[in-house]
Amino acid sequence: MRIGLIDVDGHNFPNLALMRISAYHKAKGDEVEWWWSDLIHYDIVYMSKIFSSTYSKDVPEPMNADKVIKGGTGYAIHLENGKEVFDKSKHQNLPDEVEKMFPDYSIYPEFDFAVSLTSRGCPRGCSFCHVAAKEGRCSVKVADVSDFWNGQKHIEILDPNITACRDKRDLMRQYMETGATLNFNQGLDMRFINDDDVNDINRMRIKKMHFAWDNPKDDLEGKFRWFADKYRKSRKGMVYVLTNHSSTMEENLHRIYVLRDLNYDPFVMVYNKPEAPQEIKMLQRWCNNKFVFKKVKRFEDYLGSKHYSEIKDM
Ligand code: SF4
Repeated sequence: MRIGLIDVDGHNFPNLALMRISAYHKAKGDEVEWWWSDLIHYDIVYMSKIFSSTYSKDVPEPMNADKVIKGGTGYAIHLENGKEVFDKSKHQNLPDEVEKMFPDYSIYPEFDFAVSLTSRGCPRGCSFCHVAAKEGRCSVKVADVSDFWNGQKHIEILDPNITACRDKRDLMRQYMETGATLNFNQGLDMRFINDDDVNDINRMRIKKMHFAWDNPKDDLEGKFRWFADKYRKSRKGMVYVLTNHSSTMEENLHRIYVLRDLNYDPFVMVYNKPEAPQEIKMLQRWCNNKFVFKKVKRFEDYLGSKHYSEIKDM
Protein backbone atom coordinates (compact mmCIF):
# COMPACT_ATOMS: atom_id res chain seq x y z
CA MET A 1 0.00 0.00 0.00
CA ARG A 2 1.03 3.59 -0.53
CA ILE A 3 0.61 5.64 2.65
CA GLY A 4 0.64 9.45 2.83
CA LEU A 5 1.23 11.44 5.99
CA ILE A 6 0.21 15.04 6.72
CA ASP A 7 1.51 16.89 9.77
CA VAL A 8 -1.18 19.58 9.83
CA ASP A 9 0.65 21.69 12.41
CA GLY A 10 3.66 21.98 10.11
CA HIS A 11 6.99 20.35 10.76
CA ASN A 12 8.01 22.38 13.77
CA PHE A 13 8.27 19.42 16.12
CA PRO A 14 8.18 15.63 15.55
CA ASN A 15 4.63 14.27 15.65
CA LEU A 16 4.71 11.10 17.74
CA ALA A 17 1.50 9.61 16.31
CA LEU A 18 2.71 9.99 12.72
CA MET A 19 6.10 8.49 13.60
CA ARG A 20 4.32 5.46 15.09
CA ILE A 21 1.95 5.15 12.13
CA SER A 22 4.91 5.28 9.78
CA ALA A 23 6.72 2.56 11.74
CA TYR A 24 3.59 0.40 11.75
CA HIS A 25 3.09 0.57 7.98
CA LYS A 26 6.75 0.16 7.15
CA ALA A 27 6.81 -2.98 9.31
CA LYS A 28 4.00 -4.31 7.11
CA GLY A 29 5.99 -3.59 3.97
CA ASP A 30 3.97 -0.52 2.94
CA GLU A 31 5.47 2.52 1.28
CA VAL A 32 5.26 5.59 3.54
CA GLU A 33 5.92 9.20 2.53
CA TRP A 34 4.77 12.72 3.25
CA TRP A 35 1.70 13.41 1.16
CA TRP A 36 2.60 15.98 -1.44
CA SER A 37 0.14 16.05 -4.34
CA ASP A 38 -3.35 15.06 -5.47
CA LEU A 39 -1.70 13.84 -8.67
CA ILE A 40 -0.56 10.82 -6.70
CA HIS A 41 -2.95 8.15 -5.57
CA TYR A 42 -2.67 6.97 -1.95
CA ASP A 43 -4.36 4.00 -0.32
CA ILE A 44 -4.51 5.79 3.01
CA VAL A 45 -3.62 9.34 4.03
CA TYR A 46 -3.24 10.11 7.75
CA MET A 47 -3.72 13.70 8.88
CA SER A 48 -2.61 14.56 12.42
CA LYS A 49 -3.33 17.82 14.21
CA ILE A 50 -2.24 18.45 17.78
CA PHE A 51 -3.11 22.11 18.21
CA SER A 52 -6.53 23.78 18.12
CA SER A 53 -7.56 25.94 15.19
CA THR A 54 -6.72 29.04 17.25
CA TYR A 55 -3.04 28.17 16.84
CA SER A 56 -2.93 25.87 13.83
CA LYS A 57 -5.15 26.13 10.78
CA ASP A 58 -6.62 23.01 9.23
CA VAL A 59 -5.66 22.00 5.70
CA PRO A 60 -7.97 20.51 3.05
CA GLU A 61 -8.35 16.75 2.82
CA PRO A 62 -6.51 15.10 -0.07
CA MET A 63 -8.82 14.14 -2.93
CA ASN A 64 -6.90 11.27 -4.45
CA ALA A 65 -6.93 8.82 -1.54
CA ASP A 66 -9.06 5.72 -0.91
CA LYS A 67 -9.20 6.56 2.77
CA VAL A 68 -8.38 9.65 4.81
CA ILE A 69 -7.90 9.19 8.57
CA LYS A 70 -7.83 12.35 10.68
CA GLY A 71 -6.71 12.28 14.28
CA GLY A 72 -5.16 14.26 17.11
CA THR A 73 -6.35 16.57 19.86
CA GLY A 74 -6.65 19.50 17.45
CA TYR A 75 -9.54 17.84 15.61
CA ALA A 76 -11.49 17.33 18.85
CA ILE A 77 -11.38 20.96 20.02
CA HIS A 78 -13.91 23.60 19.03
CA LEU A 79 -14.64 27.13 20.22
CA GLU A 80 -17.74 27.77 22.33
CA ASN A 81 -18.36 31.34 23.53
CA GLY A 82 -14.69 32.18 23.11
CA LYS A 83 -13.57 29.09 25.06
CA GLU A 84 -11.92 25.98 23.69
CA VAL A 85 -13.93 22.83 24.37
CA PHE A 86 -12.59 19.30 24.00
CA ASP A 87 -15.14 16.84 22.60
CA LYS A 88 -14.09 13.34 23.62
CA SER A 89 -16.46 11.73 21.11
CA LYS A 90 -14.37 13.27 18.33
CA HIS A 91 -11.11 11.93 19.66
CA GLN A 92 -9.76 8.46 19.07
CA ASN A 93 -6.59 6.90 20.39
CA LEU A 94 -4.21 5.06 18.11
CA PRO A 95 -4.99 1.34 17.86
CA ASP A 96 -2.93 -0.67 20.35
CA GLU A 97 -0.75 -2.28 17.68
CA VAL A 98 0.24 1.22 16.41
CA GLU A 99 0.59 2.77 19.87
CA LYS A 100 3.25 0.25 20.85
CA MET A 101 5.46 0.86 17.79
CA PHE A 102 8.89 2.40 18.29
CA PRO A 103 8.69 5.83 16.59
CA ASP A 104 10.07 6.09 13.07
CA TYR A 105 12.37 9.08 13.60
CA SER A 106 13.58 8.89 9.99
CA ILE A 107 10.54 10.87 8.77
CA TYR A 108 11.87 13.92 10.64
CA PRO A 109 15.56 13.97 9.66
CA GLU A 110 15.75 17.63 10.64
CA PHE A 111 15.45 16.68 14.34
CA ASP A 112 18.08 14.61 16.09
CA PHE A 113 16.41 14.13 19.50
CA ALA A 114 14.07 11.51 20.91
CA VAL A 115 10.50 12.30 21.93
CA SER A 116 8.99 10.42 24.85
CA LEU A 117 5.57 10.07 26.44
CA THR A 118 5.93 7.72 29.38
CA SER A 119 2.91 8.79 31.45
CA ARG A 120 -0.51 10.14 30.61
CA GLY A 121 -3.26 11.95 32.46
CA CYS A 122 -3.32 14.61 35.15
CA PRO A 123 -5.26 14.90 38.42
CA ARG A 124 -5.65 18.68 38.21
CA GLY A 125 -8.28 19.18 35.53
CA CYS A 126 -7.47 22.87 34.93
CA SER A 127 -10.35 24.45 33.05
CA PHE A 128 -8.18 25.74 30.18
CA CYS A 129 -6.45 22.39 29.58
CA HIS A 130 -7.67 19.28 27.73
CA VAL A 131 -5.39 16.67 29.27
CA ALA A 132 -7.75 15.46 32.00
CA ALA A 133 -10.72 15.23 29.60
CA LYS A 134 -8.61 13.36 27.06
CA GLU A 135 -6.48 11.12 29.25
CA GLY A 136 -8.19 10.98 32.63
CA ARG A 137 -7.64 12.55 36.06
CA CYS A 138 -4.84 10.30 37.16
CA SER A 139 -1.27 10.36 35.95
CA VAL A 140 -0.41 6.81 34.93
CA LYS A 141 2.79 5.27 33.59
CA VAL A 142 2.12 3.95 30.07
CA ALA A 143 5.58 3.14 28.71
CA ASP A 144 9.28 2.88 29.44
CA VAL A 145 11.88 5.33 28.19
CA SER A 146 13.35 2.60 25.97
CA ASP A 147 10.06 2.56 24.04
CA PHE A 148 11.12 5.93 22.60
CA TRP A 149 14.85 6.28 23.02
CA ASN A 150 17.63 4.43 21.26
CA GLY A 151 20.73 6.41 22.03
CA GLN A 152 19.88 9.98 21.01
CA LYS A 153 21.81 12.63 22.92
CA HIS A 154 18.69 14.55 23.90
CA ILE A 155 15.13 13.66 24.92
CA GLU A 156 12.06 15.89 24.80
CA ILE A 157 9.72 14.57 27.49
CA LEU A 158 6.05 15.13 26.65
CA ASP A 159 4.45 13.66 29.78
CA PRO A 160 1.71 16.10 30.84
CA ASN A 161 2.29 15.71 34.59
CA ILE A 162 5.04 13.22 35.41
CA THR A 163 5.41 14.69 38.91
CA ALA A 164 1.90 13.39 39.78
CA CYS A 165 2.63 9.86 38.55
CA ARG A 166 2.82 7.06 41.14
CA ASP A 167 5.72 5.50 39.19
CA LYS A 168 7.70 8.71 38.89
CA ARG A 169 10.71 7.31 40.80
CA ASP A 170 11.04 4.52 38.26
CA LEU A 171 10.60 6.91 35.31
CA MET A 172 13.00 9.50 36.70
CA ARG A 173 15.59 6.75 37.19
CA GLN A 174 15.12 5.58 33.62
CA TYR A 175 15.57 9.10 32.27
CA MET A 176 18.64 9.61 34.43
CA GLU A 177 20.23 6.37 33.23
CA THR A 178 20.05 7.41 29.57
CA GLY A 179 22.75 10.02 30.23
CA ALA A 180 20.96 12.14 27.61
CA THR A 181 20.18 15.79 28.11
CA LEU A 182 16.52 16.27 29.03
CA ASN A 183 13.76 18.78 28.59
CA PHE A 184 10.54 18.36 30.55
CA ASN A 185 8.73 19.95 27.67
CA GLN A 186 5.24 20.09 29.18
CA GLY A 187 6.35 21.45 32.50
CA LEU A 188 6.85 20.03 35.96
CA ASP A 189 4.07 20.61 38.48
CA MET A 190 5.71 22.55 41.30
CA ARG A 191 2.91 21.59 43.71
CA PHE A 192 3.87 17.88 43.46
CA ILE A 193 7.66 18.19 43.52
CA ASN A 194 9.18 16.68 46.65
CA ASP A 195 12.71 16.24 48.04
CA ASP A 196 13.26 12.98 46.14
CA ASP A 197 12.28 14.68 42.89
CA VAL A 198 14.75 17.50 43.49
CA ASN A 199 17.50 14.96 44.25
CA ASP A 200 16.79 13.20 40.95
CA ILE A 201 16.56 16.44 39.01
CA ASN A 202 19.89 17.56 40.46
CA ARG A 203 21.47 14.37 39.12
CA MET A 204 19.94 14.68 35.64
CA ARG A 205 21.48 16.44 32.65
CA ILE A 206 18.75 19.04 32.42
CA LYS A 207 18.92 21.16 29.29
CA LYS A 208 15.71 23.07 29.82
CA MET A 209 13.24 23.11 32.64
CA HIS A 210 9.64 24.25 32.43
CA PHE A 211 7.08 24.94 35.13
CA ALA A 212 3.76 26.73 35.21
CA TRP A 213 2.09 29.16 37.59
CA ASP A 214 -1.22 29.40 35.84
CA ASN A 215 -3.62 30.22 38.62
CA PRO A 216 -2.79 33.31 40.68
CA LYS A 217 -5.07 31.98 43.47
CA ASP A 218 -2.43 29.26 44.03
CA ASP A 219 0.06 30.83 46.38
CA LEU A 220 3.20 29.20 44.97
CA GLU A 221 5.77 31.82 45.92
CA GLY A 222 7.06 29.73 48.84
CA LYS A 223 7.26 26.56 46.75
CA PHE A 224 9.14 28.29 43.93
CA ARG A 225 11.51 29.76 46.52
CA TRP A 226 12.00 26.31 48.10
CA PHE A 227 12.87 24.76 44.74
CA ALA A 228 15.17 27.62 43.78
CA ASP A 229 17.14 27.06 47.02
CA LYS A 230 17.55 23.34 46.35
CA TYR A 231 18.09 23.25 42.58
CA ARG A 232 21.79 23.26 41.74
CA LYS A 233 21.66 25.53 38.68
CA SER A 234 21.63 29.30 38.96
CA ARG A 235 19.00 29.76 36.25
CA LYS A 236 15.96 27.97 37.62
CA GLY A 237 13.97 27.41 34.44
CA MET A 238 11.10 28.84 32.46
CA VAL A 239 7.71 29.31 34.11
CA TYR A 240 4.55 29.67 32.03
CA VAL A 241 2.31 32.41 33.41
CA LEU A 242 -1.23 32.12 32.10
CA THR A 243 -3.02 35.41 31.50
CA ASN A 244 -6.38 36.50 30.08
CA HIS A 245 -8.11 33.62 31.81
CA SER A 246 -9.01 34.41 35.39
CA SER A 247 -6.42 36.88 36.60
CA THR A 248 -6.14 40.63 37.03
CA MET A 249 -3.20 42.62 35.70
CA GLU A 250 -2.01 43.03 39.28
CA GLU A 251 -1.97 39.24 39.70
CA ASN A 252 -0.17 38.81 36.38
CA LEU A 253 2.54 41.24 37.41
CA HIS A 254 2.86 39.75 40.88
CA ARG A 255 3.69 36.31 39.42
CA ILE A 256 6.09 37.77 36.86
CA TYR A 257 8.02 39.87 39.39
CA VAL A 258 8.20 37.11 42.02
CA LEU A 259 9.52 34.60 39.50
CA ARG A 260 12.05 36.97 38.03
CA ASP A 261 13.38 37.88 41.47
CA LEU A 262 13.86 34.18 42.24
CA ASN A 263 15.90 33.70 39.04
CA TYR A 264 13.19 31.96 37.06
CA ASP A 265 12.32 33.00 33.55
CA PRO A 266 8.61 33.98 33.43
CA PHE A 267 6.94 33.39 30.07
CA VAL A 268 3.51 34.88 29.48
CA MET A 269 0.89 32.66 27.86
CA VAL A 270 -2.27 34.36 26.61
CA TYR A 271 -5.53 32.45 26.74
CA ASN A 272 -7.72 33.06 23.66
CA LYS A 273 -5.12 35.41 22.26
CA PRO A 274 -7.08 36.59 19.19
CA GLU A 275 -9.63 38.21 21.53
CA ALA A 276 -7.24 39.30 24.27
CA PRO A 277 -7.06 43.01 25.27
CA GLN A 278 -4.19 45.01 23.85
CA GLU A 279 -2.68 45.46 27.31
CA ILE A 280 -2.28 41.70 27.70
CA LYS A 281 -0.62 41.40 24.30
CA MET A 282 1.77 44.18 25.36
CA LEU A 283 2.50 42.36 28.59
CA GLN A 284 3.41 39.28 26.59
CA ARG A 285 5.66 41.24 24.24
CA TRP A 286 7.47 42.87 27.13
CA CYS A 287 7.95 39.76 29.24
CA ASN A 288 8.76 37.27 26.50
CA ASN A 289 11.25 39.51 24.72
CA LYS A 290 14.17 38.76 27.01
CA PHE A 291 16.29 41.64 25.75
CA VAL A 292 13.60 44.19 26.58
CA PHE A 293 12.54 42.38 29.77
CA LYS A 294 16.08 42.60 31.09
CA LYS A 295 16.42 46.28 30.23
CA VAL A 296 13.01 47.53 31.37
CA LYS A 297 12.34 46.18 34.82
CA ARG A 298 8.72 47.21 35.25
CA PHE A 299 5.81 46.85 32.87
CA GLU A 300 4.57 50.33 33.77
CA ASP A 301 7.91 51.74 32.57
CA TYR A 302 7.76 49.64 29.40
CA LEU A 303 4.49 51.29 28.39
CA GLY A 304 6.26 54.63 28.40
CA SER A 305 9.56 53.44 26.90
CA LYS A 306 10.94 53.69 23.38
CA HIS A 307 10.69 49.89 23.04
CA TYR A 308 6.93 50.18 23.38
CA SER A 309 6.53 53.20 21.09
CA GLU A 310 8.62 51.44 18.43
CA ILE A 311 6.32 48.41 18.28
CA LYS A 312 3.16 50.44 18.88
CA ASP A 313 3.84 52.32 15.65
CA MET A 314 4.53 49.15 13.67
S1 SF4 B 1 -1.70 20.74 35.71
FE1 SF4 B 1 -1.03 21.02 33.60
S2 SF4 B 1 -1.48 19.10 32.56
FE2 SF4 B 1 -2.64 19.11 34.46
S3 SF4 B 1 -4.67 19.88 33.91
FE3 SF4 B 1 -3.46 21.63 34.62
S4 SF4 B 1 -2.50 22.49 32.80
FE4 SF4 B 1 -3.25 20.44 32.26
